[in-house]
Amino acid sequence: MRCINFWLILVFLISAVGCKKSKTKPENSVDKKFAIVLHGGAGYITSDNLNDSLQAVYKDVLMTAINKGYTVLENNGSSIEAIRQTINILEDSPLFNAGRGSVFTHNETNEMDASVMIGNTKDAGAVAGVMRVKNPIDLAIQIMQNSPHVMLSGKGAEEFASQQGVKMVDPSYFYTEKRFQSLQDVKEKESKKTAYINPTILDEKFGTVGCVALDKQGNIVAGTSTGGMTNKRWNRIGDSPIIGAGTYANNATCGVSCTGWGEYFIRGVVAYDISALMEYRGLSLHEAAQEVIHNKLPAMGGDGGIIAIDKAGNIVWEFNTPGMFRASQKEGEEIRVEMFSKN
Ligand code: ASP
Repeated sequence: MRCINFWLILVFLISAVGCKKSKTKPENSVDKKFAIVLHGGAGYITSDNLNDSLQAVYKDVLMTAINKGYTVLENNGSSIEAIRQTINILEDSPLFNAGRGSVFTHNETNEMDASVMIGNTKDAGAVAGVMRVKNPIDLAIQIMQNSPHVMLSGKGAEEFASQQGVKMVDPSYFYTEKRFQSLQDVKEKESKKTAYINPTILDEKFGTVGCVALDKQGNIVAGTSTGGMTNKRWNRIGDSPIIGAGTYANNATCGVSCTGWGEYFIRGVVAYDISALMEYRGLSLHEAAQEVIHNKLPAMGGDGGIIAIDKAGNIVWEFNTPGMFRASQKEGEEIRVEMFSKN
């Protein structure tokens, strides 16, 4: 009898330990939560040059945009649809340098660029120098999904856009008094100097928009849309439509969207560099972003910022300018909206 009791107790203990073990998470598992983050450009954004009522106006649009993408993700939507709808709101607002509020070129036109990348397949789409596409991010997505190419530009890109049913508008849709005045100011300052002045120095803030999302399936997508730089000439193209420079996504590491002085972001291959530091040097997203934005980029002379999400849903934003319009929300958490370096 005593012997039977002993065996019963032993069997009970073994099964209890077994049950407990099977409920314990594997060591490398991560709690994947869906998450979304956006930026509305980095630059000389401080409480001194943005009064309270203007801050409220910006905040309102940033909240609406992040909320839109969050709702898509919450309802099992894809990260691609989340970034598209979020960026569309920013493109439709005259406040940001993308879509409707795009800056003017030297020739007083608006030439827009955008790109998108998906972290699971590494598919990407990009467009440069379009003048009649209402939402350039939509065209970048169409290029990725419905063409054999990654990047289209100018008239050909617009021809493809029409074929795909992407919404087109008259170029006058992009006229905003504020941006036109900025161009005149830059030109006036430039005319007083004998040497060529980089327009970025005079524009004070960049205003490009971008969004990164991680959906419930664990897929990361990054997208960026911009009007480029005020007073740009010669069909100049910045980093925003360059995969690896302004936009990058890889489910093994992170998704990144950049804003800043494009020439430096291209030369620094900034978005990819952050991913590569994680992939090859084992840095966390936070460490990688710090290294690139606070060491590598300033050492080259560049300024700007990034938003990013890693595969575990960690959200990071870093910038080396006085401010960056930004907002984020993670599953079950509050929305964060910030503009300046110290909030
Ligand atoms: N990076 C963009 C460009 O160089 C500008 C911006 O971020 O606002 O075209």
